[in-house]
Amino acid sequence: MKNRTYDRTKENFKYFILITIMPIIGVAVIFSYAFLHLQKDLKFIIDETGGLTTIKEIQNTIFNIQRLRGLASIQNLSEKSQEELKLTKEKISKNLILIRQNITTQNKSIPLKKELESFIDSVEKSSLEFKSFNYLYEIIEEFMSYSNRISYSCNLILDPELNSYVMIENVVYLLPQLIEYNGQIRAIATSTTDKQLTEYQKEYFVIQLNKIKEILKKLEFNLNMLYKTEQSIDLKETHLKMKEAQNSIIEFTQKNLLKANGILLEPNGIFELITKNINLIIALYDTNFLFLEKSLNNRLKETKILSVYVILAGLISTLFIVCVNGIFYIKNKKFIEEIQKLTITDSMTSLYNRRHFDEVFENNLKIQSRTKQPLTFVILDIDFFKLYNDTYGHQAGDFIIKTVAKNLKNSLKRAGDMAFRLGGEEFGILCIGINHTEALSFANTLKENIENEKIKHEKNSASKYLTISMGVIVIEPDTLYSTNEIYRCADEALYKAKENGRNQVVVYNNKTFT
Ligand code: GH3
Ligand code: MG
Ligand code: MG
Repeated sequence: MKNRTYDRTKENFKYFILITIMPIIGVAVIFSYAFLHLQKDLKFIIDETGGLTTIKEIQNTIFNIQRLRGLASIQNLSEKSQEELKLTKEKISKNLILIRQNITTQNKSIPLKKELESFIDSVEKSSLEFKSFNYLYEIIEEFMSYSNRISYSCNLILDPELNSYVMIENVVYLLPQLIEYNGQIRAIATSTTDKQLTEYQKEYFVIQLNKIKEILKKLEFNLNMLYKTEQSIDLKETHLKMKEAQNSIIEFTQKNLLKANGILLEPNGIFELITKNINLIIALYDTNFLFLEKSLNNRLKETKILSVYVILAGLISTLFIVCVNGIFYIKNKKFIEEIQKLTITDSMTSLYNRRHFDEVFENNLKIQSRTKQPLTFVILDIDFFKLYNDTYGHQAGDFIIKTVAKNLKNSLKRAGDMAFRLGGEEFGILCIGINHTEALSFANTLKENIENEKIKHEKNSASKYLTISMGVIVIEPDTLYSTNEIYRCADEALYKAKENGRNQVVVYNNKTFT
């Protein structure tokens, strides 16, 4: 029975492992998927921010080259303009260094990295202030195309959030284009030495103005979309100033440059006026950029926090599964042990029952042959119990059975000793490690104890009181007896004890009884 209990407990443990591992695998799959997904998002945003920083550097360079283009077109530079030219040149050199640093250190996914580097080299080497409008225009175009390609390869164009996407469109496309159209007006206007513009120049201005109006419409739409969710006073203020600045450039172009009676300002003055307004458009670019950068950084932070939550949730779920299953496992184990206990005990006496005896007997025989110790089996039976029942009633008989059982239990001295109710009023005792004499003395003490209980049994011819008869067998190691044989021999000894007048112990000793 012990083996069977062990098997059930083992089986219970196996089920515990199984029902714990299965959901843990499920949890691991789900949370790993969520975690990897977030890591992908994280990489996506990191690429975006990396690309955006490079784009910003390129764009700053473009703004300075545009300023230089405006100044380079002036034939008679004023002192102030000369100073401005010098400053702008220095700024461009710094800008170029920064772009180079940026692409070499931070972002591996910058496309055409080598080409961009060699393009920067060529720009650094050329003396930009002596170059023509077309040459500078092409450099600006080239830089813009790099900026566009970076926005593609760094996912900026694929941003899934509407607000970010709108700001990216403003920062990468609309505002740079708007600034360039205004920059072209500035450069053409400052190149005029005559008060009167050529028809070609006038046509060019009209085209630029149309392009500007188109961009303004898109920009207005985008910014209004942003205002629906973002309440940024900064953005609104710079937007308003940009509109005023743009209007004054448009007005200046229409009333001054395109006017029949000619230009009223000289080139240095035109440069100053338009530059002041372009700077206000650049201010909107900067605010948009900061806004976008902030929103990407926030998303980066949120995704990182979410990743930590996902890991924590995964761990907590795993812990929960282990705990819940663990509790069930322990409860189940206890139930199994309780049920096993019930199946091996006799309910009336709480002694082990016959079933358990059969298993233990076999087991003890094995232990005996292994440990080379004697095994004692005692079989005992209440004398004239039928008559006791008949005289004192069945209920009194039950009480007697319990009393004898209690005596039996109390008589056991060592941990391995076991007492059984073999059936009716018949009991058994198994002890390992006591010799012949000890066994006999043990049995006699037990017999005396029962008689000393002084339970009246008037129909007992062996005594005034209730008595028991016992058959004892001590099996020495290596005698190769089967359990059935041992049982039979002990039973024979018991029969002899009954035959000899009851209330006595008979020991079976190699086919003789003593
Ligand atoms: P002997 O000295 O030869 O053993 O005589 P006996 O009367 O004890 O022998 P027998 O085996 O013929 O009788 C056993 C009786 O035990 C029969 C039955 O009524 C009684 N008995 C068996 N189980 C129980 C039980 O659980 N409760 C009660 N009260 N009596 C039982
Ligand atoms: Mg009997
Ligand atoms: Mg009997």
